Amino acid sequence: MESGPLPLDPAAIRRDFPILDQTIHDRFPLVYLDSAASSQRPRQVIDALRDVYERNYANVHRGIHWLSERSTDLFEEARESIQALVGARHAHEIILTSGTTAGVNLVARSWGDANLRPGDEILLTDMEHHSNIVPWQQAAERTGAAVRFLPITDSGELDLEQLDAFLTDRTRLVAVTAVSNVLGTINPIGAIRERADRCGALLFVDGAQSVPHEPTDVQATRADFLAFSGHKMMGPSGVGALYGRETLLDAMPPFLGGGGMIRRVARDRFAPADLPFKFEAGTPPIADAIAMTAACRYLRDVGLERIAAHEQRLARLAHERLAAFDDVAIHGPAPDRKAGIVSFSIDRVHPQDISELLDHRGIAVRAGHHCAMPLHERLGVSASVRASFYAYTTVDEIDRFADGLRSVRETLRRTGSRRAPTAR
Ligand code: PMP
Repeated sequence: MESGPLPLDPAAIRRDFPILDQTIHDRFPLVYLDSAASSQRPRQVIDALRDVYERNYANVHRGIHWLSERSTDLFEEARESIQALVGARHAHEIILTSGTTAGVNLVARSWGDANLRPGDEILLTDMEHHSNIVPWQQAAERTGAAVRFLPITDSGELDLEQLDAFLTDRTRLVAVTAVSNVLGTINPIGAIRERADRCGALLFVDGAQSVPHEPTDVQATRADFLAFSGHKMMGPSGVGALYGRETLLDAMPPFLGGGGMIRRVARDRFAPADLPFKFEAGTPPIADAIAMTAACRYLRDVGLERIAAHEQRLARLAHERLAAFDDVAIHGPAPDRKAGIVSFSIDRVHPQDISELLDHRGIAVRAGHHCAMPLHERLGVSASVRASFYAYTTVDEIDRFADGLRSVRETLRRTGSRRAPTAR
């Protein structure tokens, strides 16, 4: 590992995360390496949630009483915080959703059903999360459009040499993740945008793993849509956001119908509300959304560039440590081209056995297909183990993880894998 101070001080950050300070199985300090599944949240966000329920809670955009106006102001302030975080031009381009999955489904249903025709193509990639695959498959089923997949290279990066061949005059939309939740690969969104421009395709970016971990600027990348989740960015679960370019959102029909999304309802028709409310039917996750202001503020104060640098440094260290084990195969590119996500397989060992034995030592990693079955098929394994980092992850935790893995391998060599090993 290179010398020099860490770009941020995770020990200081950890003091804001009470959940990280606990002992597992009465013996081991918790080593939480599962932030790609869901991050932890700082005291500031927990306090903000409590504050809403203790002092500021009422339904939003409904009442004209004092408390409702106050909670509405705080709710709209959260929208503005999210707008600032991703660099959107207008606050009404931010639709508050329940998370990334809801954002993809909204666009696939609303834009997809209104615009896709038989023969049209939606271009995905071989490293997408199921949330950025299935809604497009469903849209294709409804409309007669086709879904295609840009392959990845053996090093776990998008095969950009093939991109032009996959972009045709039938491609209506490219939906791609900014960062792979398995490989950690950071995808060149700007370059994809430029190539998609040539065939007039829209660009949908899955920001679930990028918005929490690196600076985002939708105006610079010219993304048409960007979806992300609060629970992966130190915010509450149950809330997320969809950014959409104003002209596109304006032209799209509402997705869910109900209270809050209408201007007027008669027995035989309704008139939808303006943006963003047109896409926010029903009572939203009020307290969770309001607490997103604290999450955005926290990320801004720590600094997303510093978070990205810190995590990349941890990824490099993890790669170095795992390279010492000749039976461990890391999936994905070299650490200088990836975020703080390191997935791997061990020869003839089932990932769940590794995860279970690491858990006996207080180390939380994830084993499985990580909602990316087509990717695992491409990798030639049915599952993998994933360690993922955040601003609060320390060098010491990477060391504990590597030491834990060493003894897990020794145990498994003695006892054999309990579950049937995955194919390689
Ligand atoms: N896309 C990616 C890349 C993800 O990592 C995830 C969460 N694992 C999702 C989409 C779905 O996010 P959510 O479950 O919060 O809707």
